[in-house]
Amino acid sequence: MKRCKTVEALRRELGKLRAGGKTVGLVPTMGALHEGHLTLVREARAKCDVVVVSVFVNPLQFGPNEDFESYPRRVAQDAKLLEACGADLLFVPTTETFYNPDHQTMIVNPAVQGLYCGKYRPGHFSGALTVVAKLFFAAQPEFAFFGKKDWQQAWLIAKMVSDLNWPIRIVKVPTVRGKDGLALSSRNEYLDPKSRAGAPAIRAALVSLKKAQVSGERNVARLAEEAKKTISRAGGRVQYLEIVSQKSLLPLKSVSEPAVVLVAAFFGKTRLIDNIELSAR
Ligand code: AMP
Repeated sequence: MKRCKTVEALRRELGKLRAGGKTVGLVPTMGALHEGHLTLVREARAKCDVVVVSVFVNPLQFGPNEDFESYPRRVAQDAKLLEACGADLLFVPTTETFYNPDHQTMIVNPAVQGLYCGKYRPGHFSGALTVVAKLFFAAQPEFAFFGKKDWQQAWLIAKMVSDLNWPIRIVKVPTVRGKDGLALSSRNEYLDPKSRAGAPAIRAALVSLKKAQVSGERNVARLAEEAKKTISRAGGRVQYLEIVSQKSLLPLKSVSEPAVVLVAAFFGKTRLIDNIELSAR
């Protein structure tokens, strides 16, 4: 596996690797890799000739009081894991080489970026869209892989690509979970033992909600209320729990079309997100 630190080096290496019309798959990450990330890489390996993984903790998507400084960084270990998964290229830019010191241009989706996670993390999604756009132009992949764990993010990226007619297929990969249902996340390492024990209640609440919906309950307010109670009883503090249209990402009053439940909850000081898709009956 080759390692590139600059866009120029990445383009040079990719120029050689993609000769002969080979397809490139890109997996953007912030590192501290776990089985969730590696599943994306394996999916890319299965679908594409050349697999590029980026590891970059993107300052633009962190708020001033968020965990940018303390976010886990361990590139040496990440590189070993990626090598074992068969990645061809690891792109690890520094902030200084990747961003102009006076970077200004941002990608925005004014309709949706302020909803749900975006309401509590102002600027987060424009930061994420901007870095993904930069990575897309750097690697020019035919395919790019994103986890459904970050459902709103994957939706916004697919929308950006569609709105701007970029020739990139967005592949959304199902969430990888621990045995107890907790979605794998680099931030799970922040959880103290008590919070770690309570956190699987998020998944349990979503699964019960879906069962109730499948059994005939369509009223969003009632479905959401029950799920919030389950999380609170386990010691979680729900930041938001919304049932929204898969198509428009706008809130629904009744589950009358394909929907997704989006949730963020704090266990201790750690903010966790998860979701579950609902089909209309
Ligand atoms: P991150 O490093 O957290 O920015 O995540 C990089 C990519 O991995 C994003 O597309 C995430 O949605 C995806 N990802 C993170 N955790 C999981 C998981 N548990 N299952 C599937 N994909 C994941």
